[in-house]
Amino acid sequence: MTSSDFFPATRQAGLDRLAAFLPRAGTHYASQRNYDYGPQRRSNVSCLSPYVRHRLITEPEILRAVIDVHGAQGADKFIQEICWRTYWKGWLESRPAIWTRYRREVAALSAKPHPGVAYATTGRSSFECLDEWVRELYDTGYLHNHARMWFASIWIHSLKLPWQLGADLFERHLIDADPASNLLSWRWVAGLHTKGKAYLARADNIARYTEGRFMPKGLAELPLDLDEMPPPAPRALPILAKPPEGAACLLITEEDMNPESLDLAGMNIAGVATVQVTDSVFAKSALIDAGARASAYFEVPVIALPALAAGDVAAWANEMGVRRIITAYAPVGPTAERLHDVTGRLGDHDIGLSLVRRAWDDSAWPHATKGFFALKAHIPALLELIAP
Ligand SMILES: Cc1cc2nc3c(=O)[nH]c(=O)nc-3n(C[C@H](O)[C@H](O)[C@H](O)COP(=O)(O)OP(=O)(O)OC[C@H]3O[C@@H](n4cnc5c(N)ncnc54)[C@H](O)[C@@H]3O)c2cc1C
Repeated sequence: MTSSDFFPATRQAGLDRLAAFLPRAGTHYASQRNYDYGPQRRSNVSCLSPYVRHRLITEPEILRAVIDVHGAQGADKFIQEICWRTYWKGWLESRPAIWTRYRREVAALSAKPHPGVAYATTGRSSFECLDEWVRELYDTGYLHNHARMWFASIWIHSLKLPWQLGADLFERHLIDADPASNLLSWRWVAGLHTKGKAYLARADNIARYTEGRFMPKGLAELPLDLDEMPPPAPRALPILAKPPEGAACLLITEEDMNPESLDLAGMNIAGVATVQVTDSVFAKSALIDAGARASAYFEVPVIALPALAAGDVAAWANEMGVRRIITAYAPVGPTAERLHDVTGRLGDHDIGLSLVRRAWDDSAWPHATKGFFALKAHIPALLELIAP
């Protein structure tokens, strides 16, 4: 089965998957989620990640549905896992330099041949399980969370390969590739997120949670002691000016494909455009779905911009006769970088670009600048925020 068979790139497919998983999102999920039964048996986890990563479905609507069935207590574990995504996003948002440093390091490391990386990425490492997960990653674009942890640990601590190139491999092949969850999870496994606390994969843990499919020999018994420049102090969240009321066009990026639920009060949407920055195949199809939904919802025409470039955006705005573009806030990553660049240049065309951030992010991210515990303590307030 290919990744597009298993992950149809539409909001409806995400909603269907959520509905099918709901009965298992309570105690079943809590007791079964750590098992990786292999690519043919994924019913113990939700496989919602590509949909929520691109916000085809949003965190609040997932949590409301889950709480309706199980209550907040009964779905405690699932709620926390959704909040891990929020935590990583908030943490990276407060330290964007970690992202730019990582991309610089990937560029420098990729410029030189690395035989160990070449072996590991072509299924010829000394670990059968890693070779199998590499195949699964290429074939399906998905790995179970535990497999991602074991993979990263073996890559870093057993094979002693640069963690940045492992993170980059995931970024290029995961269907749910997410700058924050991916980069910061790799850093966590490497012992760089919480200094001195690396994640070390153990053979008995792998054997237990794969039900004996794998029992690797020769894993590192101690984690590498990696060091780096200390991360910068957290910055405050950028304050966003409220977009002026009146006519505007809506730009949909792969960071948020749920325009129906954005707070656009007072704005008169005159047109919709979609635009993609990465080369994700999932995002490409999902943007077609998001554009069609937005066009029907706002009853306006939709176009696909060829690139996120000031000239293209300005030409579209001029054609639609508006001086303002609205788009959902893009968290740290390639889209945010392009948007930052375009915002500056649009001024030359006398066009303003306004970002709209969701209440969920506004409430959660300030609690995500240190460890997960502070955000966990804020979960009751988040649930109150999204209560019907
Ligand atoms: C090294 C590494 C790299 C990762 N890279 C990514 C990535 O690029 N994109 C991505 O979306 N997730 C990433 N994760 C997190 C996690 O593995 C996936 O979100 C999860 O496995 C997706 O499968 P699921 O939807 O079936 O999860 P479920 O177990 O059903 O969890 C439900 C939802 O909770 C969230 N979630 C669960 N576990 C985590 C977690 N550890 N961190 C953040 N959110 C979580 C996801 O939104 C997920 O869809 C990574 C984890 C590791 C260890």
